[in-house]
Amino acid sequence: MGIYKEEAIVLRSMPYGEADRILTLFTRGAGKVAAIAKGVRKPSSRLRGAVQLFSHTHLVLYGGKTLDTITQGDSDETFSFIEQDLDKLAAASCFAELVDRLTMERQPQPKLFQLLLTAMRTLEGSDPELLGRVFETKLLAALGYRPQFEGCVMEHHDDRQVLQPGGTAADPVWFSIESGGVLCPACAANCPGALTLSPPTVAALAYFLRSPLDRAVRVRIERRSRLELASLLHSFICYHGDVRPRSWQFTR
Ligand SMILES: [Zn+2]
Repeated sequence: MGIYKEEAIVLRSMPYGEADRILTLFTRGAGKVAAIAKGVRKPSSRLRGAVQLFSHTHLVLYGGKTLDTITQGDSDETFSFIEQDLDKLAAASCFAELVDRLTMERQPQPKLFQLLLTAMRTLEGSDPELLGRVFETKLLAALGYRPQFEGCVMEHHDDRQVLQPGGTAADPVWFSIESGGVLCPACAANCPGALTLSPPTVAALAYFLRSPLDRAVRVRIERRSRLELASLLHSFICYHGDVRPRSWQFTR
């Protein structure tokens, strides 16, 4: 691989040996990369500022067998507001942990890189809890698990009236985490794991999916829907991604 340059966000950072750090980087062009920053814990290290946890940085790396070596670095954004606010720190930890756990090494996912970068930038001026829900929804879509809200998710019939199944827009909507979308009442009756969502929750998810992240996070959502969104998205990620990030226990 030789020497290469990459734009990266630092997902994880662990002290190693006397003065080194082993980092998990999420890069724009090469996906997730494990790298070592040698001597970075010495006060005199020039790399120190370039590889801080969560920072957005431009690096020069040298490809190795298991670990690449960072030879130069220049940080663009350190997001220093994150360490001054526990809720924001918890949210950033969640974003980084989800990207780390749900991606494979060296598989470029530039859309996911942009989503993570935008989420880190948006975190400064927004509600970290709501941003978490928007990020999780968009993360699912970026990974190919976009929840379906149009028509019944079961493909054997064509039911375009799912959101108002013979009733009003105030009726709860059936949803299947396993099938990844809304169900008509007939299919819900045959689906043991089907759950109901309130219409504002479904509307919020659809809005998150179709709006840019920085606009989606400005929507007003009632407490009940927020709880429903958190429960649904976390179950969805556990089921389809097979992970339960440790950092969820620190977020609301
Ligand atoms: Zn159906």
